[in-house]
Amino acid sequence: MSKILPKREQNSDELTQKKALDLLDDHVNHGCCTKSKNLQDIKITNLAKKLAYSYHVIHFKMNYEPFWEVNYTEGDDSKWDNEAILNVTKEDKLKAFAGEFARSLRPKEYFKNETRQIIVPNSGIYYKCENCKGSGFNLTPKYSCSFCQESNILTDGTETSFVCKKCNQTNKINHVECNLCKKGQIRKILKIKINYKSVNDIFYFNKESVPSDFFQKTKGKQIFYEEKIDGRVKPLSDFSLKEMNEKSQQVIQSNEGVIAQKHYVISYPVWKCDYTVGDYSFFLVGEERFVYAPQYKSSVCTIV
Ligand SMILES: [Zn+2]
Ligand SMILES: [Zn+2]
Repeated sequence: MSKILPKREQNSDELTQKKALDLLDDHVNHGCCTKSKNLQDIKITNLAKKLAYSYHVIHFKMNYEPFWEVNYTEGDDSKWDNEAILNVTKEDKLKAFAGEFARSLRPKEYFKNETRQIIVPNSGIYYKCENCKGSGFNLTPKYSCSFCQESNILTDGTETSFVCKKCNQTNKINHVECNLCKKGQIRKILKIKINYKSVNDIFYFNKESVPSDFFQKTKGKQIFYEEKIDGRVKPLSDFSLKEMNEKSQQVIQSNEGVIAQKHYVISYPVWKCDYTVGDYSFFLVGEERFVYAPQYKSSVCTIV
C-alpha cells in the first residue's frame, strides 16, 4: 500500500529589493558588528529565487533474537515429533521456524519503535533431565538404617524401601524430588525478542551551500511523499535533480531487515541576493526568510 502526492510548484511570493534590504537591516541590528547606518548606501544588484531540497528516507527495521526458556506453564508443546525427548537437530529446526514466525508478525504501529517478547507457537520440547537421569529424584542419596545406624547407599531413586544388610530390617525411603525438572523431564519453550525501529536518513541539496540548520528551522513544503509497508519503496528516478535520484537509489537499498519504508522530499525557497559589497551575496531562506549572510575571507563580520 502506498500513496503518492503529486509534485507541486512553489507559490512564487514576490520579494522586492527593498524588502530584502529591510530583512538584512533587521539581521544586522540583531547580531552583527556592522551598524545599520553603514547599510544605507548598499544596493541589491540582483535577486534570484531558487529551490533547495531535503530528501528524507525512513527505514522501518525489524530484528529478532530467539532464546530458549525453561518453562512448564506457557505455550503449546511441539507437534513436530511424538517423542518426548527431542535432539539438537529439532532445536535448530525450531530456531529457523522462529525466524519465519518473526517475519510473519506485524508491528502494533508502523514507523513506531517497539520491543516485545513472544512465544513461538508449538515450540515446547522436553529433555531428559541429566541431573536425575530422568528419574525425577535426586540420585545416590545416602541412607542410614534407622534401626542399627548402619550406612547404606542407594544408586537410583526408584526404590521405595531397602532392607538393611546388617540387621535385616526394612526401611522406608522418602525420596527427595529433583529440583531442576518435573518428573525427570525439562521442558523448554522458544521465545523471541522482537524489535522494531525506525532509522532516518536526511540529505540536503542546495547549490549555494546554505548550512543545513537553516532548513531544519524552516518549514518548507512537502512536494513528494511515498510509503510502503511491505518492503522498500521505489527509488526516485525522475526528480529534477540528478544527484537526488542517485542518492535515492543508494539509500533505499541500505540497511538490513527493512520491513517498511517511506521517503519524501521537501522544498525550500532560497533567495540569492547579490549586493554592492564586493562580489558577495546574502541569502534569504524559506518562507520565513531567515537571513544567511556567509562570512567571507578573514573578516569576522558577516556583512562587510
Ligand atoms: Zn531432574
Ligand atoms: Zn540395620
